Amino acid sequence: MTIDADVIVVGLGVGGEFVAGRLADAGLEVVGIESALVGGECPYWGCVPSKMIIRAANTLAEARRAGKLAGHATVEPDWSIVARRIREEATDDWDDTVAVERFTGKGGRFVRGRATVTGNRTAVVGGQEFRASRGLVLATGTQPAAPPVDGLAGIPYWTNHETLEATEAPASLTIAGGGAVGVELAQAFARFGTAVTIVEAADRLLPAEEPEAGELIGKVLRREGIRVLTRTQLRRVSHDGRDFTVHLDGTGAVHSQHLLVATGRRADLKALGVAAAGIDDTQPFIAVDNHLLVADGVWSVGDVTGAGAFTHVAMYQARIAASDILGQAHEPASYRALPRVTFTDPEVGAVGLTEAQARSRSVTVQTAVSSIPSSSRGWIHGPGNDGFIKLIADAGAGMLIGATSAGPAGGEVLGALAVAVHARVPVAVLSQMIYAYPTFHRAIEDAITQLSLRRPDRITVRAIVVRGVLPVWACFPSLQSVCAVFRMPVRGSGQPDDLG
Ligand SMILES: Cc1cc2nc3c(=O)[nH]c(=O)nc-3n(C[C@H](O)[C@H](O)[C@H](O)COP(=O)(O)OP(=O)(O)OC[C@H]3O[C@@H](n4cnc5c(N)ncnc54)[C@H](O)[C@@H]3O)c2cc1C
Repeated sequence: MTIDADVIVVGLGVGGEFVAGRLADAGLEVVGIESALVGGECPYWGCVPSKMIIRAANTLAEARRAGKLAGHATVEPDWSIVARRIREEATDDWDDTVAVERFTGKGGRFVRGRATVTGNRTAVVGGQEFRASRGLVLATGTQPAAPPVDGLAGIPYWTNHETLEATEAPASLTIAGGGAVGVELAQAFARFGTAVTIVEAADRLLPAEEPEAGELIGKVLRREGIRVLTRTQLRRVSHDGRDFTVHLDGTGAVHSQHLLVATGRRADLKALGVAAAGIDDTQPFIAVDNHLLVADGVWSVGDVTGAGAFTHVAMYQARIAASDILGQAHEPASYRALPRVTFTDPEVGAVGLTEAQARSRSVTVQTAVSSIPSSSRGWIHGPGNDGFIKLIADAGAGMLIGATSAGPAGGEVLGALAVAVHARVPVAVLSQMIYAYPTFHRAIEDAITQLSLRRPDRITVRAIVVRGVLPVWACFPSLQSVCAVFRMPVRGSGQPDDLG
């Protein structure tokens, strides 16, 4: 017998759970279907456990910096502590009872199983048909995508699941993929003592972000003893029952205890059966409009829409879709000021367009870069102060259209830049703002000053500062007037940029 409801939500990850909960709260009859764990990737195999590992790894790194700052510290990494935290505090040993009750407590009807779409308002789970009067929401996320590498299929390589369930840090780990997930986990495992090799096909790590960000993270990872291979392809992979051998083009082979494949994610639209709802299942993702509508009576949110594989995107879309289904007024979705953070140390936060993306559009692009180590706070911070602020402005409009903030608190500093891009705050206004001293975000002012002075792209003086030439300059009073021309302070020995 068919079960009727107002709305069927397929996939109760962060996006689906939010929509289902909002609609149930509003009094609709909602069926929520989940094949794995309610909450999805983020709390069990994504954001939360990975950030717990990063928090632990950064604590080790800070302790190791003590010798340069505070005294003597010896740290003995112990993976079992973070593994226990993940198991007990974050995931309830990968049990979603609490999350299921969160949904059913709102009046939702929970169904455990894998759904197949059978029409615009119908889905089937294990032979049971569900029919919705208002609509169907597809929030099925993505799964790890394995590259077509000879030998990979059928061998026990790790995805994010096995990696974040690990009960010990491996002696050695090869990571295929130098995107956010790959670099975050590479640094974290290395700080726990794992010998890490990271293999990336592009010419730099974090290829989707600014080149400066990838170069910075490559430099930092190499400094921490990680083998970083860019412009390198996996040719063949094998497993002898104990260790992995990864054959690379040009650079021989790498042997390691484990292999993590972090080369991207994919949605399986054919398996979901979306064609039955008139949705093109040959596309990589479900195409949504800016109300998250896909077809008559079908909405979709989260990673499966391809709008940005982030929890905050899934939740943003979920809010809009829920309002749309409820017939409530809402702003259409816009990804113009999409923020994202790679939680390496230094963190890399970015919002809006990169310089390359901006230059491919018909706007007059102006850029500015300031250095964190030569800002007051960066200089005070000392060890671990790598970073920069890069601003991308539409010179005609006098507004920021993109920014990157890399540094010890790069993800937090991003907040100010995200407001500027989102709210279209004019550069002239940003240049009048008072930036608290000595904060990391004060380095924004230094870059804003470059823009508001309408200097040419990439002020070369900044590069001089970054390379550490400035302290030498300061020894020669005659050169101090040169610094003054560029509004660079020359007091003290550290020469922060933001005291002028
Ligand atoms: C290692 C890692 C770290 C990450 N870190 C961050 C971070 O720091 N910040 C950030 O913003 N994002 C991060 N992400 C991305 C984030 O986890 C995703 O963007 C987010 O989980 C997407 O939510 P979603 O609801 O679209 O999909 P998911 O969370 O993937 O949920 C989809 C759900 O649908 C279910 N499902 C699929 N098909 C069916 C079906 N046919 N029937 C029933 N159920 C189905 C799945 O079981 C799953 O539970 C990270 C991801 C990874 C892998």
